[in-house]
Amino acid sequence: MKQQGQEQYDATLAVNERGKIPDTLRHLNYKYLTIAIFKHNRSLTYTFVGVCAIIKNIFHFKSIRMSLRKLRNTDRIQNIQSNTPKPVIGSWKKYWCDQSGELWPETCRFRGCGDNADGSAHVIVNYDEDFEYIIPICDDHREISEIFSVNSGTLAVRIDKEEIITELVENLVEKYGKLHLKGGMRVQNIQGTNVCHPRGRKRGTWKKFWLRHSDSEWPSLCRVRHCMEQAEGGAHVRMKKKCGVFIVPMCGKHNNAQNQDWYSVEEHTIAVRVDEEDTSGPVGPCYL
Ligand SMILES: [Zn+2]
Ligand SMILES: [Zn+2]
Repeated sequence: MKQQGQEQYDATLAVNERGKIPDTLRHLNYKYLTIAIFKHNRSLTYTFVGVCAIIKNIFHFKSIRMSLRKLRNTDRIQNIQSNTPKPVIGSWKKYWCDQSGELWPETCRFRGCGDNADGSAHVIVNYDEDFEYIIPICDDHREISEIFSVNSGTLAVRIDKEEIITELVENLVEKYGKLHLKGGMRVQNIQGTNVCHPRGRKRGTWKKFWLRHSDSEWPSLCRVRHCMEQAEGGAHVRMKKKCGVFIVPMCGKHNNAQNQDWYSVEEHTIAVRVDEEDTSGPVGPCYL
């Protein structure tokens, strides 16, 4: 089943491909952050690394860490019309459960209400507009506009907008199958990639594959930082914290599976991910 969040995310992508700021992010644009999106070699480049930095610097969250708040029945709760984009995991219900470590309650948390907790409300607590929380609630009470109170002990999960936006943007980047690596990011050669051939192309090379998917010119120099050798071919590499096998232009010396060092890359390095349909080689060394 396709989740709501996924649809929203697909919609976001559709807008992006026309080169506009995603609808789901636009309202955040002026209020909280600036997302630098620019056209580069006909392809959109999402400087998600920049986004993280911008959010950290400009965004005036008192605290950016997610937190959990146990409400009392004396707290003043107010529904807000929030259009915070749904997290990558798909639903606010899941988000609430993940962050609180609790099972979704059976009944609405509105004080004294016994109806099913069908949905979640975006609320602020005690008029503090800086923080938006999620609480489980019934459909009727999700719409209520007056200030209300909840049953004591209700867990309100604070929405970590920074994390949600960062994940969304990273997902968009990954959907394209190519990553713009920040200078200094580390890559490592993968062993056993001599059996990995580009699929369905006679005399196909990983250089050609990289050229086809990166939408960029082949770099003159190896992308390993400070290396002055020519970039001869596409090296199969892995990255820390990024699942997948990627191709990065390197010189003959650095494109060597025997060499298991982690290399920092130069600024403006593009890594193209190899997916199953791109190679006739086996899973593991050739793709993940
Ligand atoms: Zn209710
Ligand atoms: Zn090199």
